[in-house]
Amino acid sequence: MADKRDYYDVLGLKKGASEDEIKKAYRKLAKQYHPDVNKSPDAEAKFKEINEAYEVLSDPQKRQTYDQFGHAGMDGFAGGGGGFSGFGGMDMDDLGDIFSSFMGGMGGFSGFNFGGSSSSSRRTAPSKGDNRYMSMEIDFLDAVHGVDKLINISVDKKCEHCDGSGAASKSDIETCSSCKGSGRVIRQTRTPFGVVQQQSICPDCRGTGKRIKKICPYCNGQGYNSVKEQVEVTIPAGIGTGQQVRLSGYGERGENGGPNGDLYIEIIVRPHKFFRRDGNNIHITVPISAVDATLGTSVDVPTAYGDVELKIPAGTQPGQQLRIKGYGIKDLRTKNLGDQYVEIQVEIPKKLSREEKELYEKLSVNRKKESVFEKFKKSFK
Ligand SMILES: [Zn+2]
Ligand SMILES: [Zn+2]
Repeated sequence: MADKRDYYDVLGLKKGASEDEIKKAYRKLAKQYHPDVNKSPDAEAKFKEINEAYEVLSDPQKRQTYDQFGHAGMDGFAGGGGGFSGFGGMDMDDLGDIFSSFMGGMGGFSGFNFGGSSSSSRRTAPSKGDNRYMSMEIDFLDAVHGVDKLINISVDKKCEHCDGSGAASKSDIETCSSCKGSGRVIRQTRTPFGVVQQQSICPDCRGTGKRIKKICPYCNGQGYNSVKEQVEVTIPAGIGTGQQVRLSGYGERGENGGPNGDLYIEIIVRPHKFFRRDGNNIHITVPISAVDATLGTSVDVPTAYGDVELKIPAGTQPGQQLRIKGYGIKDLRTKNLGDQYVEIQVEIPKKLSREEKELYEKLSVNRKKESVFEKFKKSFK
């Protein structure tokens, strides 16, 4: 993973690049390194790298995840429950848009294989399904510590009985006679690159090259079944509202045997009654008496990790912040811990017992000579 280049570097862009800049950079590079045009030996690898970078950066959701987690986010989170994996195939729709625009609107682009089975045309190539999105609310402390949550989802899975073929048995699969199993019929077409042989999809088998005599009864010939699954979602410690967890393969069904898309779960962290988050730091306001603030004291302050003894020095002022180092939130990327800040709120008593009143009056007499108010008046000229 360490040798993987930064996606922005791949496209020669800065991190805050606009959607337009990303698209422009991609078009330029894709054109330059397209293996149909560029015959240098590393063109294909380069072309794939460019496409991978574009696939992520052109998708706001994926880009956000990448910006937050880097390549690690693309391959799942550390300590994840095994439900995560890297991005699978490429987004054929995006590629189709780009190519049809610079290849003069020619449909059914073919000749280069984007990672699916060999030399299939766009419509019959396996393509990854769309992503799905949902949101999930979690408690503040669960966000601090990380949590595993079970969710119930239905997902389309390949039928095990027919291995996705949709046929009752292997002998029920016949080669399509119209295209002799190729799935394509060939035509000649003019393009900006000259006359090429363009393949279009066989209308009789819709590009599969096969005809099924008897359909699989377990999936009704569909090749897949919708199944309800209980999935454990591992939410990493330190996650914040608006950040996403990805479950690979729990998105929409892929086309032509392609993998499912992914499921993105946006996390919403419920506010806590006392803790507030600011970056990776946690803030809390704690009340103490005026006497404790004056003389100093020691208190057991609640933190996300249990109570921690905190010394409040003599002469602590209202609103003063004291820091408890390392009791904040774990950074998702660096794993460094933030701090907890304790804001001191000094409570002035509204009611006093007779004894307390006498004591305060004594203090008042003692302090009269150097009253703070008189000092202020003197300086007020
Ligand atoms: Zn089946
Ligand atoms: Zn056919």
